[in-house]
Amino acid sequence: MPEDVKVIVIGDSSVGKSSLLKRLAGEDFVEVQESTVAVEYYHRQWKVRRKDINLQFWDTAGQERFRNLIPRYYANSHVAIAIFDISNKASFTSLEFWIQELKRYAPSDCKIILIGNKADLKEKRQVSPKDKLPWTSESKHPKIIEISAKTLKKPNSILDSIASEGLAV
Ligand code: GDP
Ligand code: MG
Repeated sequence: MPEDVKVIVIGDSSVGKSSLLKRLAGEDFVEVQESTVAVEYYHRQWKVRRKDINLQFWDTAGQERFRNLIPRYYANSHVAIAIFDISNKASFTSLEFWIQELKRYAPSDCKIILIGNKADLKEKRQVSPKDKLPWTSESKHPKIIEISAKTLKKPNSILDSIASEGLAV
């Protein structure tokens, strides 16, 4: 039986959460719409350290515009992908809010992967890969992974990172 790993995305509207998830889910992209809660999720089978994993990607279905998501979205999550747009400084600053929400509602051992999206928009860059989240101590600061959901061809290394983080829980 593959092990289920629940992956959620957090970050401001328009940073590219849905675009990235669709890339990550790739050919296994299966959208499920629940009627009671406005979330969508996708599946992808992935193998890491010879273990079969069923990655369940949960998307916010646009609810992030209300600034807080329903606690059920965060419940039982193993990995949270916190996303900002490198061409939008405000989306980086907002991560403080999103990570506070995560700490409040997600299990305490939920892992965070920090992604700077829209790396193809280098000429509009407002956030440097060396910028730090001000409230996070140096030693605990997650590494910023810069990517472009638009030009990303093979998401394999990101899927490896997500699956390994998920297994470590
Ligand atoms: P969400 O609201 O966070 O789910 O963001 P979406 O995935 O809907 O993306 C918002 C807009 O940004 C869309 O027009 C996307 O095509 C665009 N977008 C997403 N990722 C990238 C990227 O890596 N580069 C560029 N240039 N545009 C992107
Ligand atoms: Mg979206």
